[in-house]
Amino acid sequence: MSNIIIDGKEIAMRFREGLKEEIAELTAAGMTPGLAVVLVGEDPASQVYVASKVKACAELGMFSQKFALPKETTQEELVALIQQLNADDKIHGILVQSPPPKHIDEEAVILNIDPRKDVDGFHPINVAKLVLEDESGFVPCTPLGCMELLKAYGIETAGKHAVVIGRSLIVGKPMAHLLMSKKANATVTVAHSRTKDLPALCRRADIIVAAVGRPEMVKADYIKPGAVVLDVGINRITDETRPRGYRIVGDVDFNDVKDHCSAITPVPGGVGPMTIALLLANTVKACRQILAASKG
Ligand code: NAD
Repeated sequence: MSNIIIDGKEIAMRFREGLKEEIAELTAAGMTPGLAVVLVGEDPASQVYVASKVKACAELGMFSQKFALPKETTQEELVALIQQLNADDKIHGILVQSPPPKHIDEEAVILNIDPRKDVDGFHPINVAKLVLEDESGFVPCTPLGCMELLKAYGIETAGKHAVVIGRSLIVGKPMAHLLMSKKANATVTVAHSRTKDLPALCRRADIIVAAVGRPEMVKADYIKPGAVVLDVGINRITDETRPRGYRIVGDVDFNDVKDHCSAITPVPGGVGPMTIALLLANTVKACRQILAASKG
């Protein structure tokens, strides 16, 4: 069985090169795409994500601003910052790094982001646009990245049975909508923590998208021979042989599964790099739409 290891790093790099030209054009037209990244508290993983988002903007000639707020920041203070960013002409995308400290109501914060700048695609207006297949909206970056990987490798989705494991607002649900859209035309089953006999369900899938957050849960007996497997999971497991004492694995047991499928994303280096690339793409899209609206 031809067995493709999907190279997310390579595809993300090519995707970012494509964006560079668009960013240069927008800059020449007087509007450099700008992203504001807001971090509340000192969660180490969030700090790493925020730093890589800011760095990626700089590499492509985009403007970015990082707001690192102390963990005691109140809901009101955070909302006040969001409103200031909504009104800021240099900012076209606003992202509040998840998860915020427990005293912050994340949903209420998201409601305050101008939907035109909601590049994470979490605002109810953008969720509705995804369901309505209105392409002016913003779709969460990770599932968008998964779709780009399928496209880059010429993997057909029309008429295929896709099983999405996980029903989160950030990955599972938007992924299911993208796959069932009139553009992709897959038949989609969404599995979750209460799904019965997940291995049997997955064995009926041509495409599996795993977004669970359980290290190496998907094993070879979940896989129909020749299926395509996209692994969204990012899990830390203890590994004393590594200098940091841990390593990152996906939700799929890569070594167990890889010889049974036709294509698979590794972790790291699969879906992960696409997430940032699509965040940049969403910010460029927001900038383009705001520029077009300003011209009436
Ligand atoms: P989440 O915790 O919000 O959702 C997990 C989903 O898995 C839930 O819907 C739950 O019902 C389902 N689930 C839990 N146990 C299950 C089981 N035994 N069988 C079937 N379904 C089960 O998580 P999330 O935010 O969607 O993230 C999922 C994973 O993807 C995590 O590892 C996260 O770190 C990773 N992630 C990666 C990226 C990326 O850029 N690659 C982006 C977002 C999330």
